[in-house]
Amino acid sequence: MRFVPQFTDGQAFPHELGKVVCVGRNYADHAKELDNPIPSEPLLFIKPASSVVDIQQPLSPPFNRGDIHYEVEIALLVGKTICDATPDEASEAITGLGLGLDLTLRDVQTQLKEKGHPWEIAKAFDGACPLSPFLPLSRVPNWNALAFTLEINGEERQHGEGADMIFTIPTLLAEMSRHFTLEAGDVILTGTPSGVGELPRGATLRLTLTGGLEITTSVIE
Ligand code: ZN
Repeated sequence: MRFVPQFTDGQAFPHELGKVVCVGRNYADHAKELDNPIPSEPLLFIKPASSVVDIQQPLSPPFNRGDIHYEVEIALLVGKTICDATPDEASEAITGLGLGLDLTLRDVQTQLKEKGHPWEIAKAFDGACPLSPFLPLSRVPNWNALAFTLEINGEERQHGEGADMIFTIPTLLAEMSRHFTLEAGDVILTGTPSGVGELPRGATLRLTLTGGLEITTSVIE
């Protein structure tokens, strides 16, 4: 059965999950740590609905396919269809705010990049996109004031701030909507700050986001 996005107040979203539209290199410090240039326009890719799992369940990505990296990211739930939107229209189409992990088969991705091939098999595999429940948005928040963290086994590994994004959330969404119609139930991942690394087996993860979202989960042994 397809994943249905949930709100933190227990309400189910009235649409199944659609696609997950992601951006690579939206924080300068992360682009630098992977030796990538800072992009002049957003580098977009898509994870399919089949890659999404509930982050609150133990995570079991394919450890037999090489290094798996965690990337914590702000996740946005799209509430209505937008196409070629302005940044303001795009911002108002967001109905929920949460966190996601953009799990990446890093060895596989490095090999694909070297050959100039698409990244799909490194980014779109089953379980590649654990998502949290979403804080319901009654009004558009101050995107720049958002902060989020990822702790692994009690140690902070990633800390991100909306204010440090290269492409702000409204600009990013407007740009995404020029390439792909965004529909109710689609999710946007907004890029990861520095601190990415290998997801350890058996780890306990804690994720937090401004607004009171706090998730604790585990990785299988
Ligand atoms: Zn990412």
